[in-house]
Amino acid sequence: MSRERRIGWVPQEYNEMTPGELAQRVDFAKRRLGSRLTILGHHYQRDEIIRYADYRGDSLELSRRAASTDSEFIVFCGVNFMAETAAVLCSPEQVVIQPVEEALCPMAEMAGRHQAVATYEALSSVWDEPVIPITYQNSTADIKAFVGEQGGAVCTSSNARALFEWAFDQGGRILFLPDEHLGTNTVLDMGMPEEALGVWDPLHPPDPATFAEARVVVWKGFCWVHTGFAEEDVAQAREQYPDALVIVHPECPRPIVVASDASGSTARIIQVVEEAPEGATIIVGTECHLVDRLNDEHPDKLVLPLSRRACGSMAMTQLKHLAYVLDGLIEGETHNVVTVPEDVARSARLALDKMLQIG
Ligand code: SF4
Repeated sequence: MSRERRIGWVPQEYNEMTPGELAQRVDFAKRRLGSRLTILGHHYQRDEIIRYADYRGDSLELSRRAASTDSEFIVFCGVNFMAETAAVLCSPEQVVIQPVEEALCPMAEMAGRHQAVATYEALSSVWDEPVIPITYQNSTADIKAFVGEQGGAVCTSSNARALFEWAFDQGGRILFLPDEHLGTNTVLDMGMPEEALGVWDPLHPPDPATFAEARVVVWKGFCWVHTGFAEEDVAQAREQYPDALVIVHPECPRPIVVASDASGSTARIIQVVEEAPEGATIIVGTECHLVDRLNDEHPDKLVLPLSRRACGSMAMTQLKHLAYVLDGLIEGETHNVVTVPEDVARSARLALDKMLQIG
């Protein structure tokens, strides 16, 4: 089979190496490349990858790391929109590499530029106030560029509310992409009524006139991991662990958030676990690699997944992929480089900079 047709392709020798041999390769490359190399690992990555990350974090933390490092090579172990964001924020001399270039976030892929432009125009035709697009960090560089061109901003699950407040202060109404649930949770947590909210299904574009009274229209995109939790999971957790705290990520649908004790970004979830007293039980509704790691790193507490939900895209990156791209760097070859066209990067940077200023 050709190299182009195989997802996560590596030369056969890497498929045949033992975990110990792969680990030796990575260790050697890290020593050899020194400060020329920075490895970034998202919290949802496998342990075998996180072990070698110079920095681990959520997408915002890692974007900041990418923007502040002087390393020549940035190996981003995550999904494509994260590596794209790093490429947008880094200097042109730096090289961003994604060990598995086919690792895409399904939610980010649910919003395309043409659809977003058409929706923006449709809402502009029925709203007197300006449409301010805000996109979740989990979106493609094309969407970030569109948002930047229209004077909008990127947000994360930590700062969505601050960005929404900023948009309202500008006298605008909001088109939020691409996560229906983060948008919905943000609006309702701000105390706005449900009537202020509209859901735009890009596969069946509605009559924009039906959104004439809405102040926020959210794109009908979703995360496979976080929409997989059910209210019964929360009920079952409460029955089994009556004293536990249940915290979920705001990419979860509203009923799950309401049934839980708290919701918060990945950074917030980590903080809650760290600050919980010894002996506490915390049930977490997010990707299970992170939950398992939190449990391992806090042996004085019990940290359990609400149910076991793994992100298949994040799990695509294995030690053999990391070893392959690092060996390439030692040999002077760059595999799986992520680039963003300069005009797209320029506009996307506007939207990212706005988030960094406001959020
Ligand atoms: S966990 Fe959800 S939002 Fe994150 S990369 Fe996977 S599918 Fe995308």
